[in-house]
Amino acid sequence: MNRRTVITGLGALAAGGAGGFALGRWSGLFAPAPPRLRLPPVKVSRERVIRTVVGLRPYRRTGFRVEREVFGAKTVVHNYGHGGGGVSLSWGSAELAVEELAKGGALPANVAVIGAGAVGLATARVLQRRGAAVTIYAKDQPPNTTSNVAAAQWNPVLVAANGDRFERAARIAQRAFQDLVGEHYGVHWRTNYVVGAGARDDALRDLFPEVRALPAGTHPFPEPEAAQYVTMMIETPVYLAAVLRDFLLAGGRLVPREFKDIAALLALAEAAIVNCTGLGARALLGDADLVPVKGQLTVLLPQPEIDYVTLYGGLYMMPRRDGILLGGTYEAGEWSLEPNREAEAAILDGHAKFFAAMQSGAG
Ligand SMILES: Cc1cc2nc3c(=O)[nH]c(=O)nc-3n(C[C@H](O)[C@H](O)[C@H](O)COP(=O)(O)OP(=O)(O)OC[C@H]3O[C@@H](n4cnc5c(N)ncnc54)[C@H](O)[C@@H]3O)c2cc1C
Repeated sequence: MNRRTVITGLGALAAGGAGGFALGRWSGLFAPAPPRLRLPPVKVSRERVIRTVVGLRPYRRTGFRVEREVFGAKTVVHNYGHGGGGVSLSWGSAELAVEELAKGGALPANVAVIGAGAVGLATARVLQRRGAAVTIYAKDQPPNTTSNVAAAQWNPVLVAANGDRFERAARIAQRAFQDLVGEHYGVHWRTNYVVGAGARDDALRDLFPEVRALPAGTHPFPEPEAAQYVTMMIETPVYLAAVLRDFLLAGGRLVPREFKDIAALLALAEAAIVNCTGLGARALLGDADLVPVKGQLTVLLPQPEIDYVTLYGGLYMMPRRDGILLGGTYEAGEWSLEPNREAEAAILDGHAKFFAAMQSGAG
């Protein structure tokens, strides 16, 4: 009998197992220690930086808008304003928009979708699946949309609450993304470690498998309090290209066009229009509720061994095949698409310290 078998045997006794022998106050000595989590560290240094990208999240103070407006013979359904959660909510918000369009009758045979970001593409695909012929009109298309900048993980954050609509869209969308897991769409399940915080407890908690607090001493992080949950990472460059391909293969048309105002929109041949213009809706409709929340990501050389996400002190690290994404900036009301170099330095420095502490086992 080797040493390992002996310890296992004593553990069984401590649990009141074989022979019903109870060890009482000695049992703690023999209880097996919970296994300590080991994770390969991210190599953070300025020389590993391959790019810094910026995007403006379309944050709508009164919640994302899914609403129908009738202009004579034309119907416009708005579907915009999803803040920091537009990729996550896209398929659910698309369902709600299509429901609005079909309200009181059959779905129109020809539909124009304005916008080719995550929201426009999902809306176009839902319409196609219901039998509509769809043309997307968009100023920019992948890879040049805000959606391409998104990290993105399935976690609808920085979206103002708008009652049941948010939760319903989130639930539909999370289920839709589950069907896209795999290399083709670039969607993967990843464990997230939230350091310095307890386990999440919100209305969507059940959409995040394996939510749990991690006891101090069982993890390598530089704070005693840590928690985990599992969610999907959506590699936006791969994902948006794949959905656009699906749209074109299903007979969809993509027309590059910018609309200056609602009159230009209503001049389209299609009688049914879904407006998925993201932050562009502010100028298009004069919607002053819509404001930019600037975010930027500094990307390091890929490290294929990194398959987990960390969130710590307002910063986050998300691994993708095209690089390790370091983020955590939220500049409300800022329209500049120039990288904020001060924020970049803070993000690099914060992550360098975090992973150095993790490697030295400060947890
Ligand atoms: C750094 C960063 C990280 C993020 N991380 C996440 C994340 O982890 N998870 C998540 O879910 N979300 C994340 N987001 C948020 C996400 O990027 C947005 O919510 C999402 O991209 C919004 O999608 P959209 O399709 O509405 O807008 P967009 O992607 O901006 O698409 C809008 C489309 O409309 C077109 N358009 C606009 N105006 C006009 C016009 N006048 N005429 C014609 N076409 C027009 C545009 O050209 C474009 O095609 C992140 C954002 C940033 C910046």
